[in-house]
Amino acid sequence: MTTRSEREKAQKLNEQHQAILSKLLREDENKYCADCEAKGPRWASWNLGVFMCIRCAGIHRNLGVHISRVKSVNLDQWTPEQIQSMVDMGNGRAKQLYEAHLPENFSRPQTDQSVEVFIRDKYERKKYYDKESVATALVSIDLNFYHC
Ligand SMILES: [Zn+2]
Repeated sequence: MTTRSEREKAQKLNEQHQAILSKLLREDENKYCADCEAKGPRWASWNLGVFMCIRCAGIHRNLGVHISRVKSVNLDQWTPEQIQSMVDMGNGRAKQLYEAHLPENFSRPQTDQSVEVFIRDKYERKKYYDKESVATALVSIDLNFYHC
């Protein structure tokens, strides 16, 4: 049984999380789907730390939870850890990692089928992934931490 004050606490936490997510979604790098660049993503993969559109969220679900854990920004409850993961990563940093080796003249897929191939290449096969940029990104997080 949950008491009234526990319920109020949970509700307050949920409101805080919604406020953080809305703020993240207002940042330029998060205004477009991480995969197909559709405008105004309202879904997220919290373990990958990216915001995406509803179509790409469906494809991410098909990858399985060992690769991507999908949540609705507005309809689901978030835990503090999941929120932290979105704050730490975001579409900008994720692009540096997962699209490090994307060819310069690469044209972003638009049809459902080609988007799925791209998403599988990107996260499952890690075709464009660069570990070096992971190291760089982690160093920059550390530096920010020490500067605070
Ligand atoms: Zn998309």
